[in-house]
Amino acid sequence: MTTDLAAFAKEKGVKYFMISFTDLFGGQRAKLVPAQAIADMQEDGAGFAGFATWLDMTPAHPDMLAVPDPSSVIQLPWKPEVAWVAANCVMEGQEVAQAPRNVLRRLVDEAADEGLHVKTGIEAEFFLLTPDGSQISDEFDTAAKPCYDQQAVMRRYDVVREICDYMLDMGWGPYQNDHEDANGQFEMNWDFDDALQTADKHSFFKFMTKSVAEKHGLRATFMPKPIEGLTGNGCHAHISVWDAPGAASKVNVFAGEGEGQTGEVGLSERGKHFLGGIMKHASALAAITNPTVNSYKRINAPRTTSGATWAPNTVTWTGNNRTHMVRVPGPGRFELRLPDGAANPYLLQAIIIAAGLSGIRSKADPGKRHDIDMYAEGHKVRGAPKLPLNMLDALRAYDKDKGLKAAMGAEFSAAYLKLKTQEWHDFTSYFSGWEKENTLDI
Ligand code: ADP
Ligand code: MG
Ligand code: MG
Ligand code: MG
Ligand code: MG
Repeated sequence: MTTDLAAFAKEKGVKYFMISFTDLFGGQRAKLVPAQAIADMQEDGAGFAGFATWLDMTPAHPDMLAVPDPSSVIQLPWKPEVAWVAANCVMEGQEVAQAPRNVLRRLVDEAADEGLHVKTGIEAEFFLLTPDGSQISDEFDTAAKPCYDQQAVMRRYDVVREICDYMLDMGWGPYQNDHEDANGQFEMNWDFDDALQTADKHSFFKFMTKSVAEKHGLRATFMPKPIEGLTGNGCHAHISVWDAPGAASKVNVFAGEGEGQTGEVGLSERGKHFLGGIMKHASALAAITNPTVNSYKRINAPRTTSGATWAPNTVTWTGNNRTHMVRVPGPGRFELRLPDGAANPYLLQAIIIAAGLSGIRSKADPGKRHDIDMYAEGHKVRGAPKLPLNMLDALRAYDKDKGLKAAMGAEFSAAYLKLKTQEWHDFTSYFSGWEKENTLDI
């Protein structure tokens, strides 16, 4: 593990460090620091005006310092003279409470205090579009059911291979790549890891995928529903909890806890309680897992041209069946299918831990498992809440969920709700064509 960035630069021939932090809207912000200045920056951090980013600060706030976490450093495989390093935000000697990586680190520590180590794998789907973002870049990618399209994935082999090669070099353990369910859509999978590591990798994956796509004259987007009528970009999270972090983990707490083991789904008692927390807080946590106006065009969506949206609309769980919000694909883990490509990598992991821990502490009951095709028979399910219909509903649900708000941190929750509510107002004040089309002659 890297501890000294100056030595890293010397050894690897790095000329510049990209000291990067993620704001509340998921934007990655960075300063490029020459290697000869990195020793001081590692100590003191790089200075930023917080107000210029989405962190709910004023222009009068003192400098915010982004202090690099050397263990996260990655030499850019496509530009080896530059290295990216995730940073923690500090102001006047205090961690900035609402900064997403700090929110996650605090929750990781809280879970560790209870002997719980969350590990997750994410599936960050994306589209490859023309550079202006207006359409799918491959004009021949028009099949009605394009999932796993062999010919279409090979037409984008240069991009997919380059990204996968980089993941191999970085030791992420990539294991498959495919054309996904929408025209122009792809998915690349790598091994699950500790929550903070997965969040850093998720951030870097987005940066890398956009950069490699640009290099090839394309535009990669993780937007939840970039093209009307086609399946959207999900970001499913697979979750398990272990007895120790990193390579030291031996026991999957979600699997085989003797008497707690529920044979029919393979989740232990604590696994079920963690899941219970996710189920209980689902409507509120959507404000984080589905954070944009556009997110709600992916969930609750009408059937797509491929035949299914693959996104949930109701708070239900099941075994190995992809039509529910939660799927338990096999023993010892579950898959949350709610998050989308707009989810902030750090807040996504943080909200999973916050909701899950609350479930374990309160011994939450996930409720009954539903083994039906939710798309066809969802109307038969009684008592399962519908997911929020739009961003405002989700923000209100989050605001009402006192427990989850406190678990994520009061300062974070206030800042997030404030900025996101402003964003909603900004959206509703936008004049859309729909209004004239439907109400001009009223
Ligand atoms: P699917 O498309 O069937 O939902 P993928 O293979 O695309 O699944 O992605 C599965 C993700 O789950 C990968 O990131 C994988 O590493 C991760 N994963 C597998 N086992 C576990 C586990 N025990 N805990 C957390 N994540 C896991
Ligand atoms: Mg300046
Ligand atoms: Mg997948
Ligand atoms: Mg997928
Ligand atoms: Mg999945």
